[in-house]
Amino acid sequence: SSLEIKTSTNIYHVYVDVKLRHKLPSFLEKEYSNVLIITDSHVEKLFLDDVIHSFGTTTKVSYAVVPAGESSKSIENYFNLMTSAIENGLDRHSLIVALGGGMVGDLAGFVAATYMRGIDYVQVPTTILAHDSSVGGKVAINHPEGKNLIGNFYPPQAVVYDVETLNSLPEKEVRSGYAEIVKHGLISDEAFFNQVMEQNILSTFNPQILKKHLIKGISVKANIVETDEKEGNIRKYLNLGHTLGHALEAELGYGKITHGEAVALGMLFALQVSEKVYGVTLPYDTLYNWLSKNNYPLHLSRVDKYVLLNRMKKDKKSRDLKVQMVLLKAIGQSTIEQLDDEQLIQFLENFFRELV
Ligand code: NAD
Ligand code: ZN
Repeated sequence: SSLEIKTSTNIYHVYVDVKLRHKLPSFLEKEYSNVLIITDSHVEKLFLDDVIHSFGTTTKVSYAVVPAGESSKSIENYFNLMTSAIENGLDRHSLIVALGGGMVGDLAGFVAATYMRGIDYVQVPTTILAHDSSVGGKVAINHPEGKNLIGNFYPPQAVVYDVETLNSLPEKEVRSGYAEIVKHGLISDEAFFNQVMEQNILSTFNPQILKKHLIKGISVKANIVETDEKEGNIRKYLNLGHTLGHALEAELGYGKITHGEAVALGMLFALQVSEKVYGVTLPYDTLYNWLSKNNYPLHLSRVDKYVLLNRMKKDKKSRDLKVQMVLLKAIGQSTIEQLDDEQLIQFLENFFRELV
């Protein structure tokens, strides 16, 4: 199966199926004589050999491995990867392969975006979350002062998504990625959202269903980034659940809660706030039960609501120190609302009181 993504500068395809990692070059429109694979220390052990061997003998293939974990999206690793690219003789016609989750995708993509003013790269996602991060062309590294502060928009030549690689994901990474699938459902399509809510994502896992959910999630994201490549209003809808999500992630520490687990709580909050602000009924209970059944962390050690409010104000999406949140008037009908501090404190208070 393949989806087509149009950007202002190119068109690329997203291939989603099993065993694709064994035939990576067949999805590329050009032949490359020099390839650098960038991956992390977990994915290296699982899939690096498969990807190396997918290239023929006429291609020079080298690789660089960074430690697994968010802290690898650093300026130090960026510089070391530049050195690897130079030492391995990559030129403007070479290819970088980003083999891994969103961390590797963002880091390797940013290396590709800036090495010799930009060379080709291909995304080979290996996490569920990366259905989101590998599409849309955002690449970045972190600064000690904040996530993704150094980056660019730089689309890949292709996204080659081998769903077989997802079998080895730890449960919390399954939860993390599925939260973004749920998000794609909430902002676009009630029937799809309901389908996901019927699925237990931890047991009885059916690869065909997963593939269907990933393709739908990718197409929702693709439609939005095609309409709004550089983040005007519509692309902001992708931020559903992320205002509180980012605040929780930062406050609890990146090792404690995964991105998607934090976003899941943020979406629950957004549903509750939407119900109050618009007087509508939304599937808060359905989502709560689904999260609970799939062991999402719902009961957090006490978080101070004023601290959270301050974190939410620092969100890149907030203007003039007023918090902007993505809300829903209905499933598939997103809006952006600016909220007063006092109002938000009340909503947060109420949210955490009802959770425990
Ligand atoms: P990740 O890449 O750190 O992967 C999570 C963990 O899973 C890591 O320990 C990794 O080694 C391991 N892993 C990866 N594939 C595996 C596999 N197949 N089997 C077993 N373990 C595996 O994190 P992520 O959740 O994939 O991505 C998060 C990153 O994505 C963040 O840096 C975030 O900023 C970025 N992101 C970017 C965008 C974008 O638009 N560019 C969007 C969302 C998130
Ligand atoms: Zn996210």
